[in-house]
Amino acid sequence: MKLLKLKLHWQILIALVVAVILGYFVPSSARYLSWMGDLFLRGLKMVIIPLIFSSIVSGVTSIESGRSLGRIGLKTITYYIVTSLLAILTGLFLVNIIKPGVGVHLGFTETVTEVQGASGKLSDIFMRIVPENIVDTMARGEVLPVIFFAVLFGFFITRVQDHYRVKMTSFFEGFFEVMMKVTMFVIRFTPFGILGIVTREVAANADKLGDIAGSMAIYMITVFAGLLFHTVVTLPLIVRFIGKANPVKHFRNMATPLLTAFSTASSSATLPLTMEAVEHKSGVSNRISSFILPLGATINMDGTALYECVAAIFISQVYGIELTVTQQFIIVTTALLASIGAAGIPMAGLVMMTVVLTSVHLPLEGIGLILSVDLILDMSRTTVNVWSDTCGAVTIAKSEGETTKV
Ligand code: ASP
Repeated sequence: MKLLKLKLHWQILIALVVAVILGYFVPSSARYLSWMGDLFLRGLKMVIIPLIFSSIVSGVTSIESGRSLGRIGLKTITYYIVTSLLAILTGLFLVNIIKPGVGVHLGFTETVTEVQGASGKLSDIFMRIVPENIVDTMARGEVLPVIFFAVLFGFFITRVQDHYRVKMTSFFEGFFEVMMKVTMFVIRFTPFGILGIVTREVAANADKLGDIAGSMAIYMITVFAGLLFHTVVTLPLIVRFIGKANPVKHFRNMATPLLTAFSTASSSATLPLTMEAVEHKSGVSNRISSFILPLGATINMDGTALYECVAAIFISQVYGIELTVTQQFIIVTTALLASIGAAGIPMAGLVMMTVVLTSVHLPLEGIGLILSVDLILDMSRTTVNVWSDTCGAVTIAKSEGETTKV
């Protein structure tokens, strides 16, 4: 029972190690454990929509004046775009220097039908932000339109007569408090969830682990190197010099959400833990975090942006297609938009690859190449996505004059 007294992130780490060992050496154990993962993911999905909705509405109403909402909103969007572009440029630089795909003849392709079905036009991504029917989008768990509606709803609460405004504000604050409690309850089961999910994934992909040592290794190393640089250099510099906060301390505080992001490969599923850690450990106010984090979990994906760029250029190298500077520029732009449009769920970035590849007429079969190693890259890029959201929350909170704990 001593195990239960350990801090949550230690429990998670232990669960992760045990799951990898079990999945690899005793794959049959996945059959008995995977239900825990499913149940845990259901629990997280259960809280996401009400949590995001109440958190944004209460966040927006607490910002109160339309002017400061505008200012925080502008800072947030600027942070998202700048960090995603920096991530993409890091990837672009590395993939052009390392050239992982040049001279590679992997000679295998996997079916891409699943992925093809999900392709969408860029204009659709923006169109979908405005919900046709808010109840329907909520029921389908589409986060972006819910965020859009919640921001509008919260904003107009601040515009009605005082009598209504006070009632509505305190109702949504209460709603949000309750949702946080429900969320914390679910979060306590994270180690069990991770045990279930990771054991199953490792067991299912154990045979493919061999490939990792093969010719895809350099491609993976390129992505890892870019992600690492962004994690330990770019973002900490922003936190240090723009946010005037301590990035190392902040990183330590984020252990639980980052490990969960790595294990679940889903920014949205991690969101409840991210919010908890950013508010309670790093001391960012709910006013800032409840606005920035749900939005960031869906639209700020630095890791995904970097990955889209590296993967597209890797595919062009493998197929021996020379890309012009203009084409590389198009890749940078579409990688940014693809990362904004990707949902915070596993493999969303892979689905969005179709958008990037089509934009410069690269063969979609290229996705087949990168499919087999996507699991580990997905886990890693999701961690960076979440890390960037939390760095944004701290930086913007500081710039608004808050005294955080980092
Ligand atoms: N899994 C990622 C996330 O949730 C998105 C992606 O596939 O790149 O952040």
